[in-house]
Amino acid sequence: MKLTYSRKNVYADADEAKLKKIFDYAEGYKAYLDDAKTEREAVKAGIAIAEKNGYKEYTLGDKINSGDKLYYNNRGKSLFLFKAGTAPLDKNGIRILVAHVDSPRLDLKQVPVYESAYLAYFKTHYYGGIKKYQWLTIPLALHGVVSKKDGTVVTVKIGDEEGDPVFYITDLLPHLSQDISPKPVATAFPGENLNVILGGIPDKEETGLDEHLLTVLGERYGVVERFSVKRNVLKILQEKYGVTEEDFLSAEIEIVPAYKSRDVGFDRAYVAGYGHDDKVCTYPEITALMETETEQTVMTILADKEEIGSEGNTGMQCIIISDLIDLIADSYGVNPALVRAKSKCLSADVTAAYDPNYSDAFESKNVAYANFGVAMNKFTGSRGKSGSNDASGEYIGFLRSVFEKDDVVWQTGELGRVDLGGGGTVAKYLANLNIDTVDLGVPVLSMHAPYELISKADLYEAHKAFSAFIK
Ligand code: MN
Ligand code: MN
Repeated sequence: MKLTYSRKNVYADADEAKLKKIFDYAEGYKAYLDDAKTEREAVKAGIAIAEKNGYKEYTLGDKINSGDKLYYNNRGKSLFLFKAGTAPLDKNGIRILVAHVDSPRLDLKQVPVYESAYLAYFKTHYYGGIKKYQWLTIPLALHGVVSKKDGTVVTVKIGDEEGDPVFYITDLLPHLSQDISPKPVATAFPGENLNVILGGIPDKEETGLDEHLLTVLGERYGVVERFSVKRNVLKILQEKYGVTEEDFLSAEIEIVPAYKSRDVGFDRAYVAGYGHDDKVCTYPEITALMETETEQTVMTILADKEEIGSEGNTGMQCIIISDLIDLIADSYGVNPALVRAKSKCLSADVTAAYDPNYSDAFESKNVAYANFGVAMNKFTGSRGKSGSNDASGEYIGFLRSVFEKDDVVWQTGELGRVDLGGGGTVAKYLANLNIDTVDLGVPVLSMHAPYELISKADLYEAHKAFSAFIK
C-alpha cells in the first residue's frame, strides 16, 4: 500500500500513442485560441463547433426534451451549451462545466481618438489585472464592434493577418529613463499613458480650427500648421468601416496582442499564446461536451466578465444560469431546487504554475507544476481564503474517484504563498446556487501577460478530466 502522496508528471508513463494524442490535441487548441481572442469571438467559435456537432439555438422558454443538444447565446458574449440527458434529473442534477472567455486587455475609451505632436492616438482603459509595462512596445491588434445609431453593427478586426498593420504603445528609451527606472513597477507606468499610436500622416484639407483661433494660436505660439493627423485617420475609418468619431460612443473595441500562438521549446512541450486564461479551459470544456457519450444532463458555460468580477448580464453573477436550470427542470417536470442541490460543477479556470525564477511567490508543496496535469484548487481567495467558496472534502473525494477511473493525471494547486496576494474565480457564484463546485484548470506560467505559457500535457489532462466528469 502506498502511504505517501506525490504528484505525477504526465510524461512519466506516457507511451508513443499518448504523446501523439497530447500533441494532436494541442493543434486543435492553437487554431481555436487564435480564432477566439475576445469573448465575442470565443462565443462565435463555440457556436461554430456546437453547430457542427448538431447543436441548435435555444430560445428562452422553449420546452427541452431529453436528447436535445442546445445552445443559448447570451448577447454574443457568453454561451450556454447543454445536452439534455436520460438520467433522472432529480437524482443526478446537471453536470456543469464553466470557464470564462474574457481575457485581460486594453479597451478603447468612448471618446478615444486624439492627436498630440502630430501623432494620432487611441485612449484606452485596461480591463482586468495587467502589468502595464508588458503592453508597451509589442504588436497590438484591434478586435471589436462599433454599434451605430441605425442598429447596424460593424465588426473591426485588424492586426492579426499577414500584411495587416499593427498598433503600438511606446516606452521611453533607457538613455532617458533615469527618473522612471527607480520607481516601483506599480507606479512607473501610469494607466493614462497606455495610448495607442494609430497614425501619423496629416490631412491637409482643413484643421477644424477657425481662422480666428488660428490667428490667436499663431500669435501666441508661433506658426500653427494647418493640418490634422486625427482627421486623416478619421477619414480612413470612414472609408474602411463607415464610422465617424461619434460612433465610438457605442463601440466596444478591444486591444489585444497581435501574436499568434506558437510552440515553445526544442521539445515543443509548451504553447505560448494570448488569452490562455481562460480559453485553455473553454476549449477542453467544449470538446469534452462534444465527444463524450453520457446519460447525464450536461451544461457547458462560456462566461464573460470574469476578469472584472463576473458582474453584469453576461457575467456569472447574472441570474440567467438559474433561469436555464429552472427551464430544464420544468421541462422534465422536476423541482428546480432539487436539480440545483444534486448538480455538480467544475469551475474550469487556470491557476498559477510554479515558476522557479520567482520561487518565493509560491509554497512548493501545494502549488501546481507545469506538466503535472490539470490542477484542482480547493479554495482561491486571499488573506485567509477570503472570497472563496472553499469546496468540501466530500466533493473532492468524489472527484478523486472519478478521475482515478479514467487515469486522469491531476494535482492540487494553490494560487501562491499565503498572504502574498490571491485571486478568485466564478466558482463561488455556482456554489452560491447550492451546487457543489470546485476549481479545476490548467496551470499557467506568466498568467495575465500578453503572451502566456501552458503545457500541452496539462491541456490534454484537462480535456480528460472534463470528459470523465460529465460521463
Ligand atoms: Mn481565469
Ligand atoms: Mn484571469
